[in-house]
Amino acid sequence: MFTMTRRSFLGGLAAFAVLPTLRECAVPDAQGISAYPFTLGVGSGDPLPDGVVLWTRLAPDPIGGGGLPNEPISVLWEVATDPDFDEVINRTGALARPDRGYAIHKDLRGLEPDRWYWYRFSVGDWVSPVGRTRTAPAVDCVPGQLRFGLATCQNYRHGYYTAHANLANEDLDLVFHVGDYIYESSGQGPVRPTPGVATTLEDYRARYALYRSDPDLQAAHAAFPWVVTWDDHEVEDNYAADLDKHGNDPATFLPRRAAAYRAWWENQATRLPPPTGPDLPIHRRLRWGRLADLWVLDTRQYRSNQPCGDGGAPLCDDNFDPELTMLGDAQEAWLTDGLLSSEARWNVLAQQVVFGDMQIGTAVNHDQWDGYPLARQRLLDLFASEDVANPVVLSGDLHAAFAADLHQQVQDPTTPVVATELLTPSISSNFNPDAAPLWENLMMQRPYVHHANGTNRGYVTCRLTPDALDARWRYVETVTEPTSAVFTGFELHRVAGPAAPAGGGAAC
Ligand code: FE
Ligand code: CA
Repeated sequence: MFTMTRRSFLGGLAAFAVLPTLRECAVPDAQGISAYPFTLGVGSGDPLPDGVVLWTRLAPDPIGGGGLPNEPISVLWEVATDPDFDEVINRTGALARPDRGYAIHKDLRGLEPDRWYWYRFSVGDWVSPVGRTRTAPAVDCVPGQLRFGLATCQNYRHGYYTAHANLANEDLDLVFHVGDYIYESSGQGPVRPTPGVATTLEDYRARYALYRSDPDLQAAHAAFPWVVTWDDHEVEDNYAADLDKHGNDPATFLPRRAAAYRAWWENQATRLPPPTGPDLPIHRRLRWGRLADLWVLDTRQYRSNQPCGDGGAPLCDDNFDPELTMLGDAQEAWLTDGLLSSEARWNVLAQQVVFGDMQIGTAVNHDQWDGYPLARQRLLDLFASEDVANPVVLSGDLHAAFAADLHQQVQDPTTPVVATELLTPSISSNFNPDAAPLWENLMMQRPYVHHANGTNRGYVTCRLTPDALDARWRYVETVTEPTSAVFTGFELHRVAGPAAPAGGGAAC
């Protein structure tokens, strides 16, 4: 990360004095800001063939409530085709509004497909760090590859973001984050403190500010566009739709959910409109040409309450209620129609909780897909359709990792393999170190599980080509020290199955 002085920045601007838009797009003055306002870094997200969303949020005093006057602040943003900003292609003003937490979401369009760009923001004497981002390939051709990272569960107090520091150095096109980006809970250490339980908009804004003030997380955001969804801890542990963890009256929980969703929206680079109440539909489809359709799912907002309690317990009759849903009817219908009509070679499902078989003895975790067996079976049967090409299920939440084949009947290896599951380790959230070896052993006894690790923190990287999937489980040695090396703990190679009947297309 670097910052520029006003002098060097204006010196850079002088080279572009011929740009007709320069006069109206000069750097706005400080507007009363008296300290560096880009303490939360920059980010980008949800790439399209012609555009990407650019993000920053002004916070001269990130932990102390922001430190800004209660007025809109004018900010200049710039986009270039090179990291030195020798070739600036757009330079325009935007307003950071107090009612949006001083966040800027610039839905930039008019870009070329399948190329990298660099961007930055400035106000007064201050210039933000430079972010790098890219557009998706054109929708009507097959690009040679998609390289993505996968992250989840980054409890600030459990560890340093050594995984993010290493993720930032990977060779990737985008990063998926599948939830537990923040933790609403309180507590000290073992590595870093966090304040009390978040319940209000101000609390959730402050929690995002704390997390986003981390330089390693900022580096990972600045290096690639991100595609984010959420899990429970963006609101409250194990909540389900309008019910909190304890199943209290929705009337008391929904205002909290509204505050949490609002803060999530302010702090993530998505193209979604801001929420106006407790609802925020975030499931969406992005495309990587005709190589991959990217289905970003929400298994929290519409799910049925966890049957038979939230935690580990044997299956009960309620688990087999055909009305039980993980996605809600509308999202499930949207996904079903989308998968059946997809023309892409791969279908990547970016979602939160473990999809495959995690039963231990007679107990299942009722917060995972194991607790919603008929809803899961509907998707597995869909994956088995010859109209659905090469599903890949991404998951997180567990704080431990595995690589698994998904059989049409998840516990029956004599049934066809219909998908691959990449369960990513936590970035920093802990997993009981005493339980890790036992869990790893139990998982590795299953013929469809090829790797299991509850010991290390890290992330997954994956390269998709028209012919194959190659995923790596990347582990850091420690999260209790500020820096760590990274190593590859496992590599999974899968050859692509047949294209969907409507699939195909020329190379980009
Ligand atoms: Fe978590
Ligand atoms: Ca979770």
